[in-house]
Amino acid sequence: MSKFTRFINFFRTKKNIAIDLGTSNILIYDKQKKKIVLNEPSVLVKDKKTGEIVAIGHKAKEMLGKTSDNLAVIRPLSEGVISDIDATREMLNIFVKQIYGGSPFRPEIMICVPAEVTSIERRAIFDAAIGAKKIYLIEEGRAAVLGSGINISLPEGNTVIDIGGGSTDIAILSLDEIIASKSVRIASNNFDDDIVKYVKKKFNLLIGDKTAENLKKEIGTAMPVSGEENLTVAIKGRDLSTGIPKTVEINSNQVREAIEDSINEIIIALKEVLEKCPPELSADILNNGIVLTGGGSLLRNFDKLIEERVQITINRATNSLESVVVGGGLAFDNKKLLRTLEMREI
Ligand code: ADP
Ligand code: MG
Repeated sequence: MSKFTRFINFFRTKKNIAIDLGTSNILIYDKQKKKIVLNEPSVLVKDKKTGEIVAIGHKAKEMLGKTSDNLAVIRPLSEGVISDIDATREMLNIFVKQIYGGSPFRPEIMICVPAEVTSIERRAIFDAAIGAKKIYLIEEGRAAVLGSGINISLPEGNTVIDIGGGSTDIAILSLDEIIASKSVRIASNNFDDDIVKYVKKKFNLLIGDKTAENLKKEIGTAMPVSGEENLTVAIKGRDLSTGIPKTVEINSNQVREAIEDSINEIIIALKEVLEKCPPELSADILNNGIVLTGGGSLLRNFDKLIEERVQITINRATNSLESVVVGGGLAFDNKKLLRTLEMREI
């Protein structure tokens, strides 16, 4: 290659990035590097008086429940929707700058958004991606199926259930389009709240959200377990009658009992979408199974439970925390799909 061609190629270099704007985590995937270049909790800590951002991402999450009165912890996205547009814009801006601030290339950005964002929120997201050449918005459901290695361009029904932090999104796709979908505001963060409430009622003990989340991840299960599978851990909290710190033991089956109602609501939502599905696609769903993804789906035995309740094979995504953003990156290659997406060129 001559020096000149190399020079020309340098300026032709495309920079395509995908961003998963999740309620719990924000991820950035670099298509050329073929890797995730940023993975941070979607949390900000602001000074209430000055409005200045004190911490963002991991640092901000560590401060949860430990901040003083003059600091506000903000989750710009909650329950699967954008609850604070300005904070979402600020967060997106900081992260994109952090990764691509020094780059001479203006990237094309694929932003994965919850299916139910309003037109005002869509506009805000477009405005947030400062410095981009082109911005596309893709529903997380479509991105999740693509990211699980499924060809969504075929005239064949594919179903996905994405259990995130703030929302569970269910979608049936065919020929690149969403045929039926539903988003419910019950997801893995509700499990944490359920566990806090359960421990309070059962042990008269107050525990924090982080302790509850750890319990869910470490010993939780969606189905009853026995023998060695029924794990026990000691948890620390504040005794509600004495006000003094206390330790109690809790096991997997108790955690399951705590989150049972929320799990059932998620399964009911899935059944509703399956019932809405056109009959020609029902056969495909039986053949292809359902893709299960999202951080919430990592709960032990969740796949088994759903399979048992709906009698359809469940295929776990290879990486439940990353399938949406990886799918967003793959979407750049599908010209037909790109035409169906909302896009803004700057
Ligand atoms: P979002 O797309 O809403 O940002 P994610 O797909 O990143 O959400 O999932 C985040 C949720 O997944 C959190 O509630 C977190 O507690 C939960 N989670 C992450 N890892 C696990 C695990 N190993 N077991 C159970 N739940 C998990
Ligand atoms: Mg998500």
